Order: sequence, then structure tokens, then C-alpha cells
Amino acid sequence: MSRGIFTVPKAYNEPIKSYKPGSSERIELKSTLQAMRNKLVDIPMFIGGLEVRTNDIREIHPPHDPQHLLGHYHYGTSDHVHQAINAALAARPSWQALDWDHRAAIFLKAAELVSGPYRAKINAATMLGQSKNVFQAEIDAACEMADFFRFNVQFMAEIYQQQPISDKGIWNRVEQRPLEGFVYAITPFNFTSIAGNLPAAPALMGNVVVWKPAETQVYSAAILMEIFREAGLPDGVINMVFVNGPAGGKVMATHPDFVGVHFTGSTEVFKKIWKAIGDNVALHNTYPKIVGETGGKDFVMVHKSAKPGQVATALSRGAFEYQGQKCSAASRAYIPDSLWPKVKKMLVDDVQSFRIGGPEDFRNFINAVIDEVAFEKITSYIDHAKEDNSCEIIAGGNYDKSIGYFIEPTVIVTTDPNYKTMHEEIFGPVLTIYVYPSNQYEETLEILDKTSPYALTGAIFAQDRWAIDTAFNKLLNAAGNFYINDKPTGAVVGQQPFGGARASGTNDKSGSYLNLLRWVSPRTIKENFAPPEDYRYPFMEEE
Ligand code: NAD
Repeated sequence: MSRGIFTVPKAYNEPIKSYKPGSSERIELKSTLQAMRNKLVDIPMFIGGLEVRTNDIREIHPPHDPQHLLGHYHYGTSDHVHQAINAALAARPSWQALDWDHRAAIFLKAAELVSGPYRAKINAATMLGQSKNVFQAEIDAACEMADFFRFNVQFMAEIYQQQPISDKGIWNRVEQRPLEGFVYAITPFNFTSIAGNLPAAPALMGNVVVWKPAETQVYSAAILMEIFREAGLPDGVINMVFVNGPAGGKVMATHPDFVGVHFTGSTEVFKKIWKAIGDNVALHNTYPKIVGETGGKDFVMVHKSAKPGQVATALSRGAFEYQGQKCSAASRAYIPDSLWPKVKKMLVDDVQSFRIGGPEDFRNFINAVIDEVAFEKITSYIDHAKEDNSCEIIAGGNYDKSIGYFIEPTVIVTTDPNYKTMHEEIFGPVLTIYVYPSNQYEETLEILDKTSPYALTGAIFAQDRWAIDTAFNKLLNAAGNFYINDKPTGAVVGQQPFGGARASGTNDKSGSYLNLLRWVSPRTIKENFAPPEDYRYPFMEEE
């Protein structure tokens, strides 16, 4: 039992290391990469603190070098999901009874581990398993992961501190109860930090969790689990299972003690999950919280007053870093014809200068896409554009999977603002540009707003304040994260709370207190120090 009103350490963003030649971090990371590449891992599921192995053993390969074997993981079935739920529910009473400062301490320690002794390991795993270059791995796996842990502790304390007023003779309080059951976390391949945060955020608020990572992220997920355990997370609080997505989703949606899903992934899958939950609502003891951050068709809108160099750089980085496999990646741009020749030259020069290859060679800016399924899907869009009369490919357009799943960053220019790559999420290194008449700025804003069902991120580039204000208002609901003169990627925990609405999700803003509020059920307490002893009110007295 805590006997003090504690103040948590002030959260800060983990400084990003440079990894420049000769730096100590570079030397350590290179040797960790080498060691991990040469060692076969054997990754079990974790259920109730036990390592669970099965006869269904699956291989792990780097996307940039699928011939190389990194190790194996043990694949489970629906039975394992049931076991994980039982383990979570068994851990629930003691986890819920533990004072919040212990929960805070566990995740603060996890932040120190991921940014300290585990930094090279988690970055190396993300580079090898998810094909991220060193900078992309560092900002994700080491820095953003530590940021989520530290800021969420601070947000938790701020939530707990918010209390109602009390009249004379009364004390009103609100406490934030964990949810009455288990939370199911379903995580995507593209961010190690998101994979860690989706189970960790509900656990921090006192919940017990079953975590199902994406099959293409198991390698770094296992290291996160190691960190949770070393930080002192009790057995059963977060259980990790590797199972088929729909099979796990079915067990989740039909369980009476299911109280919430924390999902990040594609819109299509989220809609299926939502439907499965709705179809089974009669089975649930309470109304499950449904939190999902999903796809995007993120835009860059350019006004004729913008600076071409800034636009080209925002597109080069915003569209192609991590091969465009960011939910926030710029994937459509609207550029005025007056600026187009300059922007085009700079953009094409940039794209043609990108070095492509595996992330173990630090000179490579662009690495492989995650797997063969993604490779086939992305390249089918490129092939479609090659055949379509409204399209011209001005950079990239080639791809090759003989060594790894490499796709050249590709820029399509279309004369049709409704062409399919202007509204469908591709999730790869493909940017489509629509060049509009400079004098049709407002009309083009209207087209932009109506073209895609998504509303995740978007950017406006302009020097003219009127143009910024017009876009700001006309695009009110087009993006949950709106950037002015900056690329639409790279949201930082604590600085730009992240998420979008429309088809992009429930906009519960990961990396802010808003997300944590979804994982509690407040109880209001009124205590009366002078309860009345007569039911009659004064108005009832005789004149
Ligand atoms: P995905 O939807 O293919 O898979 C996400 C997870 O859902 C995986 O763990 C998968 O196994 C599981 N799954 C699949 N079918 C299921 C079902 N029927 N029931 C339950 N679980 C199921 O996504 P992905 O390819 O791993 O990630 C890329 C997607 O994630 C993109 O659409 C991207 O925009 C989105 N994303 C969004 C954000 C955001 O914050 N908005 C962040 C990162 C990624």
C-alpha cells in the first residue's frame, strides 16, 4: 500500500543517436547485427510466464535476404489463445491490487532497458526482421518505445490527479479502475514501438493482456517480451501468442470476459474485428472498448507560394522512408503547375540518388518491403499505372525479388485526381502526384477532401497565410494529424498525439492521455461527513 502522493519523473523524448562512422553506438550495433545474424533464435510463446513451444515451427527471414535463416518461432492455435486468456484472468486480481506506483516503476524501468542495455539488440532485431535502416530502427524501436513508456506513466499520473470538486461536508473522488476482464492487443509489423505499446498501455493502467503480434514482427516482439520480463512485469499480465489472426480474433470476440481490443493494422481487418465483436455482443459481460488505428492515404497539398525545395524534400522523406510502409507516409500529392517543373526536377534527382539494399550496409537509405505478399501487392499497383493512359512513371517503376523484396521508390504522375493510387492505400514506396492548375487551389482542396475514405495525416505547404488558413479549414476532417510546412510522417510521442478518423480509425491518439482513458472504467465516490437524519426538506414546513 502506498503511503504518499507520489510525483512521477518528468517524461522526455529519448535523444536520437547519430550512428555516424566511428561512434560507439555504431560499433556496438554493427557487432550486435553480426552476432544476431549468425545465431539461430528459437522463439516460444509466453503464457502465464511459461515459455510455450509447439510442433508447428515457422521460419524467420530478413525481408532483404529471405534465403538467410534468423531462427524459428512456435506457432499456436485457438487453444493457446484460451490458455493465454486464462493466464491473464488468473493474474488479474494481484495485478489490479498492486499500487499504481509499482506499475509505473515497471514501465519506467522498461524505458531504461530499451534505451540502454537493450538498445543495440532491439534496433538490430528491427533492422534484420523488418528491414529498417539504422535511423528508422533507432527512432522507432529504441526512442519511440522508451517515449511511450515514459510519457504514458506521466499521463497515467495526470489522469489519476484529475478529481472532482467537493462541497462542504462532502468528499468526492474518482478512481480509475482497470477493465473487468482481459484486453486483446493485435499489432502490426511496421513499428516495433507500436507493437510494444499496444499491450503495454492497457497493462500500465492495471489491465491484463493477451498480445498477438504480426507474424512478420515476431523477431523484435520477442525482445520486447524479454524487456517486459526483465523490468519486473509479473507473469500473466502480458501474454504473447503467435496465432492466425482471424482464429485469435474469433476467440477474443466470443469470450464473455473480453473487455477491449487495442488494434493497429489495416482498415479491412479492423472492420472485420468490429463486426465480429458486434455480432457477439450478447455474449459479453460488458461493452468492449474498440480502439483501432488503421490505414491512411496521406496527402501533401502544395500552394503556389510554397518553396519547391521544401516540398521535394518532404516528399522524398515523407513518401519513401521505410519504403513507404508507414501509416502516415505521403502517398498522394497535389502540386500547382507553376511549381511543378522545379519540384519535379528536385524530386526525381532525390529519388534517383537513393541507395537501395539491405540495412546492414548503413549506406542504404531504402531497404526491402516486408514480405512477398506485400511485394506482389505493391508491384501490381506499379504495373497498373504502367498500363493506364492517365499515368506516367517519372521515377522508379522497377522491382526485383531475386535477392530480397526490393522495389524502387516510384513516382507516378496522373492526370486523373481519382486514379486508384490517389485513393487506395498501397503501403509501399509509391507516390502519386496530381498537377493542378495554380489558380484552382480551393477546387483542388475540395477534390482532395473527397478523394479517399481515409483521414490520418496530411500536410499543407505554403508561405501565404491565407492559403494555409483556407486549407486548414477546408480540410478540417481530412486528417487527424495536420502538418503545416512539414512532412506528414514522424509524429513524436508527447508532441504530436497520433491518430485519425474516417476510415483511419477511432482516433484515440496513441502517445497521449486520450488513449489511456480508453483502458479504465472510472468509479465515482461520494462520501458524506454529515448525512441528514430527517427526510423532510425545509420547503415542506408550514408558513
Ligand atoms: P494487418 O491488418 O494485415 O495485420 C494487423 C494485425 O491483425 C496482425 O497481427 C494480423 O495477424 C491481425 N489480423 C489479421 N486478420 C485478423 C482478424 N480477422 N482478426 C484479428 N486479427 C487479425 O496490418 P499490417 O500489414 O501488419 O500493418 C499495416 C497496416 O497497419 C497498414 O494498413 C497501416 O496503415 C496500418 N497502420 C496504422 C497505424 C496508425 O497508427 N493508424 C500505424 C501503423 C500501421
